[in-house]
Amino acid sequence: MISVSEALDRLFALVTPLEAEEVPLQQAAGRVLARPVTAQRDQPPFAASAMDGYGVTEAAPGMRLRVIGEAAAGERFTGSVGPGEAVRIFTGAPVPDGVKTVVIQEDVDRNGDEILITDRLGNGDNIRPYGNDFRAGETVSAPRRLTPQDIALLAAMNIAQVPVARRPKVALISTGDELVMPGETPGPDQIIASNTFGLYALLQELGAEPRLLPIARDSEASLQTVLGLADDADLVITIGGASVGDRDLVAKVAGDLGLERAFHKVAMRPGKPLMSGRLGDAMMLGLPGNPVSAMVCGHIFMAPVIRAMLGLGSEPAPRESLPLARAIPANGPREHYMRARLGTAGVSVFERQDSSLLSVLGAADALVVRPPNDPARAAGELVEIVRI
Ligand code: AMP
Ligand code: MG
Repeated sequence: MISVSEALDRLFALVTPLEAEEVPLQQAAGRVLARPVTAQRDQPPFAASAMDGYGVTEAAPGMRLRVIGEAAAGERFTGSVGPGEAVRIFTGAPVPDGVKTVVIQEDVDRNGDEILITDRLGNGDNIRPYGNDFRAGETVSAPRRLTPQDIALLAAMNIAQVPVARRPKVALISTGDELVMPGETPGPDQIIASNTFGLYALLQELGAEPRLLPIARDSEASLQTVLGLADDADLVITIGGASVGDRDLVAKVAGDLGLERAFHKVAMRPGKPLMSGRLGDAMMLGLPGNPVSAMVCGHIFMAPVIRAMLGLGSEPAPRESLPLARAIPANGPREHYMRARLGTAGVSVFERQDSSLLSVLGAADALVVRPPNDPARAAGELVEIVRI
């Protein structure tokens, strides 16, 4: 058995980062920018008024000025402004020649074509300097997962097509005679495939393109057939059938199909039977069947693999240090990922940690990571957590 961090290293060694593709800006949010992009213009492309008011050469309380024209956003005033003159100006309008300051409209009294600057006059010129936000040629660095804020910046830079990493195609294969799909009517000895859908959702959230394959039954022929349907995938994920029971056929069948196995077991709870390797052009990840184990392995192994495929680097799931709200007992010899809830008093680890309890996992928003043989911990002690 290898450690979690050793398993992650071996997984990262199997990852091939995916190539880039171009998508329209409207489809780029959440995607991973594949290479730096460059501003195509200066912003603002002219000195612009930051307020509605009057553009003047100088301003002081008591000054009377004659309004000689108007400058609006999208339509500049083409003349120039001299001493004793003002131009009515609106937010976003180009600042006319000669104008050094914009007096906001609240600070003047207007009478016909004349304005009087009142003693309310504030400081500041209310002008956004030319190129103040960014200049043509400035770049947005890659890789990064594009946020809505990034999208607004790219739009302002006049980048309409965005180079992003292709979404990894992930085939999800559930295995087991006992499984039926949600919505079907299970027989008396059957249960609903559940973690399959949790993993599907996690893959969507990570920016992958998951595909649900039919459930493989517990026979070599069935598993072979379903694995054969996964041939266009970048990553093939099997769920269940990965331990050593008579009906756990994934290792055998994948081996027959040529899996170069990188490892089979990881010293962790929950999730010991975890398998990976290369299967033809694809990478394969065999997850345990227990619902909680599968989801925990999804966060701890699958998510970092997807991020690495997207070019975001080979990094484990991010951890934070937080205080315990309640004491926890000593850990055994395997790294333990305990379901927990974050609160203002700190992290509360749930009493029930059985790896079949999806209700507990559903109530959790973090996993407390216990190193092997970690001693008992008191309330207030810092522990490492992974948010889920
Ligand atoms: P296995 O690794 O196939 O022995 O499965 C371990 C446990 O997980 C068994 O109780 C299975 O019924 C259950 N299980 C396997 N696959 C799934 C699945 N996709 N959804 C829910 N439970 C599963
Ligand atoms: Mg099974």
